[in-house]
Amino acid sequence: MTETFKIALDGPSGSGKSTLAKNLAKHYGFVYIDTGALYRTIGLFVAERGIASDDREAIVACLPDINIEMKLENGGGVVYLGGKRIGNEIRTPLCSKYASDVSKIPEVRAFLLETQRDIAKKNNVIMDGRDIGTVILPDAQVKIFVTASIEARAKRRFAELQERGDSATYEEVLADMKWRDANDKNRNIAPAVPAEDAVMFDNSGLNVEETLSAAIEIIDKVIKV
Ligand code: C5P
Repeated sequence: MTETFKIALDGPSGSGKSTLAKNLAKHYGFVYIDTGALYRTIGLFVAERGIASDDREAIVACLPDINIEMKLENGGGVVYLGGKRIGNEIRTPLCSKYASDVSKIPEVRAFLLETQRDIAKKNNVIMDGRDIGTVILPDAQVKIFVTASIEARAKRRFAELQERGDSATYEEVLADMKWRDANDKNRNIAPAVPAEDAVMFDNSGLNVEETLSAAIEIIDKVIKV
């Protein structure tokens, strides 16, 4: 089998990674994989069972009951849990918190590893997450670490939630983001840090289109080498 092309897009929450990843996937005709959706889905499963997000033992014990799949639909990965298609129900502040907590558990990360790698073996992918460049796809041809100031990221996430009719205030979103940044960055396992060979990309002052053009410039340099 010929080698697939892999683009790893890592960075903190609200950095605009997922919008950028979707746009890049369209531009290059690659498959878009949102790995955060996998952690959110585990979070949803655990929350629905009434397990506390920090009850590591109970979370690990229920992993064998979780049947999670990533299927390709319209050029993107869609998560299925127990055969049920997962949509926006994982985009709530509760699932964000659960996802951040369950993702600190090594057994959970190991549980999701092959699901992520398998897709990249068979398809050209743009994968967005926290540890794609460092752990999941260390051989990715392009690694970009996307950042933006915390205020810029909170503003974007707030606008997104408002559009969905969520009643969270900007202050709540900002506080939640600060908590998640610290939780994701300071954990012992797969912390959200850039790979040594990642290109750092701060898009604080850039809109969606400008972010896309700048990223294409970074990627094209590698593709054309
Ligand atoms: O990207 P998103 O905000 O949807 O991810 C939800 C949570 O899942 C993050 O806060 C992070 O803790 C975790 N995550 C992770 N590794 C990934 C993707 C997400 O630990 N590759």
